[in-house]
Amino acid sequence: MRQLHDMTSPLKDSYGRAIRDLRVSLTDRCNFRCFYCLPHGEPPIAPKEEMLSYEEIEYVCGIFVSLGIEKIRLTGGEPMMRRDIETIIEKLAALKTKGLQDLALTTNGYFLPDRAQQLKDAGLDRITISVDSLKRDTFKQMTGVDVLERVLAGIAAAKKAGLDPIKINAVIVRGHNEAEVVDFAAFAREHDVQMRFIEFMPLDSGHDWSRNDVVSGREIRERISEQFPLVPARVARGSETSSRYHFADGAPGEIGIIAPVTEAFCGACSRIRLTADGQIRTCLFSTVEHSLRDVVRNGASRQEIIEFIEAVVLKKEPRHYINEPQFVAPSRSMSFIGG
Ligand code: SAM
Repeated sequence: MRQLHDMTSPLKDSYGRAIRDLRVSLTDRCNFRCFYCLPHGEPPIAPKEEMLSYEEIEYVCGIFVSLGIEKIRLTGGEPMMRRDIETIIEKLAALKTKGLQDLALTTNGYFLPDRAQQLKDAGLDRITISVDSLKRDTFKQMTGVDVLERVLAGIAAAKKAGLDPIKINAVIVRGHNEAEVVDFAAFAREHDVQMRFIEFMPLDSGHDWSRNDVVSGREIRERISEQFPLVPARVARGSETSSRYHFADGAPGEIGIIAPVTEAFCGACSRIRLTADGQIRTCLFSTVEHSLRDVVRNGASRQEIIEFIEAVVLKKEPRHYINEPQFVAPSRSMSFIGG
């Protein structure tokens, strides 16, 4: 039993991968109904008492940081639906004196026009905003809400607040928005943002995912390159989810391609997740969860919590099995797991 975790040896799984990156879902609630995530209305909403309070989030994140977590990304559901998000950011930003290097947020952008500056002032470093279409009709069809203009205003507000760099996520789905790939690249150039294209993954609550709907990272790259030639960014990819490209003509902006289905990157995965109700998930596609909430609420000591986390991390799956016949989609959608 280790009494004090040695900061030079971070959390490691049983395949030798160092775990440096924690994604924390702040709520399973969402004000959008993206068809590839939550197509059939409300998911089972966890009762409030099952959700981690901001004090619990602060406490366990402090422990994770003491175990070598360097990056925390807040997500959801829609994390900005959580009224105490600024408080949570403020508390977590204080962990930067203890080894946290990066505090980021993924949001649908709806609340940003009024609140981007507050997030920045609370200590948020970076933001990723999801935008699946730049066309009003397609945006509405994909997200279930007619609010493209407001989300674009949210991007402008985030920029104005100095949340830099800004990343934009778009899930590319066959027959919906694949024809917009080049428009998104043009948007990245015009607004100097990193545009990230994500392959559609089997994480929809309706379990309607089909391989035929996946637009591969390769196809996305080729479509963009025909209009705007790309050069690979000269940065070590490390555990990053995206492969990154610059525009060959030196234009501002960047392209990131996240291809978990056709170009899996599990070997370099450094991520674990904490759901809004306090379950640790060691993979997006895990079919089991580990209740850190119960351990904390049952009065475990800090040392016992550390041992629990270390034991859970050792159970991290070697890889996902999306492409194999035995694949079983997780029962919870991305909105609950925290993307
Ligand atoms: N509500 C926030 C948002 O819209 O960004 C944060 C949560 S959302 C679940 C995080 C990211 O997961 C979004 O960029 C979303 O597009 C992506 N996502 C959700 N379901 C997905 C799926 N089935 N395949 C690929 N990406 C998905």
